[in-house]
Amino acid sequence: MTDIIIIGGGPAGLTAAVYARRAGKSVLVLEKAALGGQITWSPKVENYPSIPAISGAELGDRMAEQALALGAEAEIEEVLGIDDCGDYKHVRCEFGAGYDGRAVILATGAKPRTLGIAREEELVGAGVGYCAVCDGAFFAGQDVAVNGGGNSALQDAMLLSETSRKVYLIHRRDSFRGEEKLVEALQAKENVEFVLNATVEALLGGDELCGVLVRQNGEERVLDVQGLFVAIGHEPDNKAFAPLIDLDERGYAAADERCLTRTPGVFVAGDCRSKDVRQITTAVADGAVAALAACRWLDR
Ligand code: NAP
Repeated sequence: MTDIIIIGGGPAGLTAAVYARRAGKSVLVLEKAALGGQITWSPKVENYPSIPAISGAELGDRMAEQALALGAEAEIEEVLGIDDCGDYKHVRCEFGAGYDGRAVILATGAKPRTLGIAREEELVGAGVGYCAVCDGAFFAGQDVAVNGGGNSALQDAMLLSETSRKVYLIHRRDSFRGEEKLVEALQAKENVEFVLNATVEALLGGDELCGVLVRQNGEERVLDVQGLFVAIGHEPDNKAFAPLIDLDERGYAAADERCLTRTPGVFVAGDCRSKDVRQITTAVADGAVAALAACRWLDR
């Protein structure tokens, strides 16, 4: 029996692991993909205090190394649900018998939002992608588009502009939600074109993407691109935990700044929690708060 099972190995989960280990608790982190979480997709993080610039992958690696060096255990597992067994919780996984923990911290983050248009799913890996860090290099020398107006889209466009011939940045408004500094840096790039007041209406091509049809200011326009990176935000994936926690209208776990849920012994941290600001810094803050709350609950 583990003291604290942490579901999700991003900044929130790994910070919770560090705090819980330093409080002497046994810790198991269950992560379905790779330790580090969503930030490993971020080309450059420039707003984490004390580190002026670092790749998301390196920051994620450093967080994972620190947690593991302190004795946290980690398994790659997809969690299907949690059973409240009174004194302990049973965590059900896709394969195997699952894991028992005295407390659980949910730090499942959020997954990329999709456009929800025809052929999107079918063209994933054939021109449509959600991670420029992972797949951008496949489009070296080609023309690509990024859709979105937040920091993820701006950073993706910046990264792609280094290797692709032309980058169209498609956004549905006439101004961006992301940081002005990034917008200015993109404006200075000769191979980046902003396509504002525009939405992606259709994906063109056969087995491979060869263009996108956008509607800009009411007019149709075809952009001849081989790649489209969708960076229109994220959504939580908390449905499996609904029997034990309350979800808000958008599916985020309802918990206040103390990271408590309605089930004693179940805590929530990071982007999967209902809150205003989703940043690495706020995720690590949640991780600390949830871990200390879980430790207090175990020592009650
Ligand atoms: P975001 O800030 O929520 O931005 C999503 C963008 O996509 C918005 O511009 C939104 O448009 C647009 N959008 C949403 N749904 C759409 C749809 N169906 N069709 C077309 N456009 C749509 O998401 P994000 O960029 O992924 O960033 C998430 C959080 O992580 C933010 O707080 C961001 O600052 C943070 N972040 C931090 C770093 C870093 O620290 N280095 C890097 C990346 C992201 P509207 O503007 O019209 O709503």
